[in-house]
Amino acid sequence: MNAIAQPSTAASEIVEILQSLLPPGHGPYQLHEPELAARERELVNQAMTDGFVSYAGRHVGLFEQALARACGTREAVAVVSGTAALHVILHALGIGNGDEVLCPSLTFVATANAIVHAGAVPHFVDSHPDHLGLDSERLRTYLGGIGAREDGALRNRRTGRRIAGIMPVHVFGHVGRPRELCEVAAEFGLPIVEDATEALGSASDSCAVMRMGVAAALSFNGNKIVTTGGGGAIVTDDAELASRLRHVTTTAKRPHPWRFDHDEIGFNYRLPNLNAALGLAQLERLEDFLRRKRRLALAYRDAFARNGRWEFIDEPPGCRSNYWLNAVKARAADGALLEEAFESLHAAGYRCRPCWTPMHQLAIYAAHPRDALPVAEDLARRIICLPSSPRLSEYLR
Ligand SMILES: *Cc1c(COP(=O)(O)O)cnc(C)c1O
Repeated sequence: MNAIAQPSTAASEIVEILQSLLPPGHGPYQLHEPELAARERELVNQAMTDGFVSYAGRHVGLFEQALARACGTREAVAVVSGTAALHVILHALGIGNGDEVLCPSLTFVATANAIVHAGAVPHFVDSHPDHLGLDSERLRTYLGGIGAREDGALRNRRTGRRIAGIMPVHVFGHVGRPRELCEVAAEFGLPIVEDATEALGSASDSCAVMRMGVAAALSFNGNKIVTTGGGGAIVTDDAELASRLRHVTTTAKRPHPWRFDHDEIGFNYRLPNLNAALGLAQLERLEDFLRRKRRLALAYRDAFARNGRWEFIDEPPGCRSNYWLNAVKARAADGALLEEAFESLHAAGYRCRPCWTPMHQLAIYAAHPRDALPVAEDLARRIICLPSSPRLSEYLR
């Protein structure tokens, strides 16, 4: 078929499994593609006809209402990206100025970047091998060792800095054990800022997703479950916080018909109306996306069931995942096998990818404070993310 060296049976096995589900003729299969249709066109046109393409305009408010409803929160504040959402929550909570924020090393770089944007220091802690989110048991032990209570604050004994919060991530839409993590946070008096950018539509029996802490961040980037082209939001039950966030994300301008009066140094973070119109149409289809993504996930689960080499990463017990990204992990870490698998998969039209390089292995974050991170390092060598667009459910054979 091509000039690539004959792949090993191990690498060709995963290609064959994908071919058995997703016919090669419909490829190439990207990891996650947006699905835009007539309703998106209609609402974007409506925003253009209204003449409101920027911050004023009815679609931003309607999008926020629909989002709050979808997340089961009182409030939603639409912003330009998930990164901006995380940044501005930290800012509003007074976290920055050299504070440390605990977050996983196994995450997309935006989690750590947002902490830095706020003037704080990301402090990396390890992940759980089953659900890929923060390992709360390990975190408790670690904080017990490095944390010292001092004037009501928790200090890192090693750096002397305040540890000011925890930013958990629901990796690929899987929600780990949220209640246990909330208990650890409460024990150490730390607020939780939830990076729920991958978790729109996910749920847990034990503790409400998006409501683990005072506020959660969502993303509507092009590859997320619902897209606004680019965008994000903060969801919260705290009406006062929401109103403060609306203010500070619109340059902190006091409402006045003509005067420019800004009462603090704010951000230009408001989601434009044009993007909100797109998002409004997408949100109408959230349930449909979730249903079709689940169908695809169950097909992957069946196809990899009892496979000796690859294990499907299933939703954790007690949780309902949105299955934003489907993934398998090699039962044994084998870097050469993974590389070979990526080559064969790409050559066959399946644009699979590894999970992220752990943050502490990037030069930009190599010197940041961290616990030992054996699980994050191990998972990064074993995970393959699979094509997960909702439309793929239609190709299943
Ligand atoms: C997508 C994502 C973000 C950031 O969202 P943007 O809208 O791209 O800024 C943050 N954290 C995680 C884990 C993400 O997957």
